[in-house]
Amino acid sequence: MMNTQLTLNKMVERAEQLFPNKEIVSRTSSGIQRFTYKEMGERTRRLASALEQVGVRKGDRVATLAWNDHRHLEAYFAIPSMGAVLHTINIRLSPQHIVYIINHAEDKVLLIDQDFLPVIEAIKDELKTVQAYVVLNDEMELPESTLTPLHSYEKMVANGNPNYQYPDDLNENEPAGMCFTSATTGLPKGVVYSHRGITLHSMALGLADTAGLSESDIMMPVVPMFHANAWGLPFAATWFGTTQVLPGPQFTPEVLAELIQSERVTITAGVPTIWLGLLKEFENGEKEYDTSSLRAVLCGGSAAPMGMIRTFETKYNIPFLHAYGMTETSPLVTVSRLKSNQEDLPEEEKLAVRAKQGYVVPGLEIKVVNDEGDVEWNGEEMGELLIRGPWIADEYYNDDRTQEAFRNGWLHTGDIVTIDEEGFIKITDRTKDLVKSGGEWISTIELENALMAHEAVFEAAVVGVPHPKWQERPVACVVLKPEAAASKEELLDFLKPQFAKWWLPDDIIFMDEIPKTSVGKFLKTKLREQLKDHLKV
Ligand code: AMP
Repeated sequence: MMNTQLTLNKMVERAEQLFPNKEIVSRTSSGIQRFTYKEMGERTRRLASALEQVGVRKGDRVATLAWNDHRHLEAYFAIPSMGAVLHTINIRLSPQHIVYIINHAEDKVLLIDQDFLPVIEAIKDELKTVQAYVVLNDEMELPESTLTPLHSYEKMVANGNPNYQYPDDLNENEPAGMCFTSATTGLPKGVVYSHRGITLHSMALGLADTAGLSESDIMMPVVPMFHANAWGLPFAATWFGTTQVLPGPQFTPEVLAELIQSERVTITAGVPTIWLGLLKEFENGEKEYDTSSLRAVLCGGSAAPMGMIRTFETKYNIPFLHAYGMTETSPLVTVSRLKSNQEDLPEEEKLAVRAKQGYVVPGLEIKVVNDEGDVEWNGEEMGELLIRGPWIADEYYNDDRTQEAFRNGWLHTGDIVTIDEEGFIKITDRTKDLVKSGGEWISTIELENALMAHEAVFEAAVVGVPHPKWQERPVACVVLKPEAAASKEELLDFLKPQFAKWWLPDDIIFMDEIPKTSVGKFLKTKLREQLKDHLKV
């Protein structure tokens, strides 16, 4: 067989050639804008040539701090197609973490939505490798800013070369993108995606038994383009010629419902918090929405509650598709679709199966292991989920924590699961000491360290507790030093300047003692049990 290279330039070139009139619908701060793939293809080539003008070369890292909009989509293709590396920065990270990841990735150019200029202005003196900034907004005029040199994205595109040709010697194993994921302890860890990995992952998204993404779909990614590449959907959708609806900045459930109705969205994707918000919008009944175009809501990132799936499907006739993955896995690993032999199960049993995380997609392999070896496929025995395959990372970028997760050819996910007779995994716990709130991670250890730096605190342990809107929220358990005193408010005020608001614990509970393991580590399973009783009261 021919060994032609699976590279991202071929995706956007295909869209431009075969689907010149299909649309990208982009919501920006000035309203809805529409671009065809012909226009998007040309703007992408212009952008690549303009980035070359400001000094971007093969292998350089170019970062984005951007919403889900057409400019971000253009960057998704221009940067990797010219041989550079697209580094999508999670705008919800703390300033210290943003400084770290920009320096660690050695980003040369930053593409920044106007909304996030203040974030970068505040840390600009700590950035060691950045040589140029580009502001993403609808105008050609530059806003007031202390960043230099600062270029206008729209001006760069306008002045770029429409006949620019992507290099034809890209190797599929070269890096195309990178993304950082939160670590249990310390700084975020980088994951690098190759052209080949992204291409094969995109193929997987198009399979009928996974998301079945196709040219005839109208796809709206609500999951941020800075979180695991919006689950790879913008790549696959562009390649397939799928119409894309990009919901842009500061969207609300109402905005999403209106976009679904007006653009006739067929498939959308996001974390459970998004769908719980949309459900609330439907339930409050002030407006009626026509959602009959939807054939699938792809839900992942945290467990999809069974009750939510039931309400969407039975009350609103909106089919749900529960999936599982990680930043390290591009991210698609499993999808929970009933097999044909399960179609005759009673409705409630079918729902229970579909609320599991699903079975592995073609192309990947998984296994579940505990101290005794591979667990039995009986839906009861628990073990850690291990994954391998061509779109699974095999290391963290320049990071000595690689050994913790990548061993003997398998990614050790830290997710504790059962696997049933049909191969459906169900996540029951995680070894990662992180709380996932509304789809984004909070490090319990950072909160603990900050609390323990307070003069009145002897010990502090933070755990995640279930939450109806955010899935999980952090709660802190604190033991005060003998004779010392501090109120809950005082401790929260102490934390406030150090963390983003959404990181702050929902509650601080004072205790006499924190349960510990035999080696003196906090026994968080026991603590969570204790809190369950506390929260019931
Ligand atoms: P991230 O790298 O931020 O996308 O987070 C990946 C982690 O999110 C996984 O290791 C799981 O702990 C969790 N996760 C992802 N999808 C699901 C799901 N469908 N149900 C439960 N947890 C999930």
